[in-house]
Amino acid sequence: MTHTSPSSRVDNIRHSLVGLRMPRALEMLDATLRRIEQGQIDGVEALDELLTEELSLRENRRIRAALRMARLPVVKTLTGFDFAFQPSLDRNRIMALAGLDFIARAEVIHLLGPPGTGKSHLATALAVEAVRAGKLVYFVALADLVAQLAKAEREGTLRERIRFLCRASLLVVDEIGYLPVTPGGGNLFFQLVNARYEKGAMILTSNRGFAEWGDIFGSPVVATALLDRLLHHAIVTQIEGSSYR
Ligand code: ADP
Ligand code: MG
Repeated sequence: MTHTSPSSRVDNIRHSLVGLRMPRALEMLDATLRRIEQGQIDGVEALDELLTEELSLRENRRIRAALRMARLPVVKTLTGFDFAFQPSLDRNRIMALAGLDFIARAEVIHLLGPPGTGKSHLATALAVEAVRAGKLVYFVALADLVAQLAKAEREGTLRERIRFLCRASLLVVDEIGYLPVTPGGGNLFFQLVNARYEKGAMILTSNRGFAEWGDIFGSPVVATALLDRLLHHAIVTQIEGSSYR
C-alpha cells in the first residue's frame, strides 16, 4: 500500500473536482476542510454539503438557461399572484394546473378575460413551473408567432419551423385577439395547431370570446377549424374581474 499524505490527497480531490467540473465544490473545499479540522462538521456532513451546493448551482443554471430558451418576456410566479384580488378565479383549479398533468395529457388551457386581469401572469407562472420541472417550454405572442410562421413560409422553411414549435412540450400562445391576425396567418396558425394536436400541451390567453375568432383570424372557416382542435381536451378558465392595475 502506498502512503499518501493528506496534502496530496487534497490536491487529488481538487484535481478531481476540476476534472468533474464541480466549481462550487472546488470553491468550498478549503473552508470545508477547515471546518472538519476544527470539529465543526464530520466527513459525511462535509460531503453532503459540497454535493448539495454543486447540485443546486447546476439546477439553477439549468433553469436559467431553460427560461431563456422559453423566451418568457418576464418571470412571474404563482406565489406572486394575488388570488384574493380575482375572486372569480378558482385558486384550487390553477394550483391543480401547476401539478402539470395537463402537459402529459397534451391538453389545451384557455385563459380568458379582460385586459389586466392576470392572464399573461398566470400563463407565465405555469410556464415557469413547467421549466422547473424540466419540460421544454416556448412562449410567444400570437402576432409574433404568425410573423415567424409567415417568414418561414416565405423562406421555404415552414416545415422546419413547425417541427421546432412542436418540440416544446408546452407552447404558450399569448394575446390572441389583441390584434387581428395578418392575412394568411390564421391558416399558418392552424397548421401549427394541427401538428401539435393531441401531441403537445398549449396555454392560450385571450381577451375575446370564441365567437369572435372569425373576426380575429379573418375567416369563420379557419376559426371553426381552429376551435375544433383547440376545444377538444381543453380546460377553459374565464376571469370575470377588473384590471389589477
Ligand atoms: P392580462 O394578460 O390579463 O392582460 P397581465 O397578466 O399582463 O394581464 O397583468 C397585468 C399586470 O398586473 C402584470 O404585471 C401582472 O403581473 C399583474 N397582475 C395581474 N393580476 C394580478 C394578481 N391577481 N396578482 C398579482 N399581480 C397581478
Ligand atoms: Mg396579457
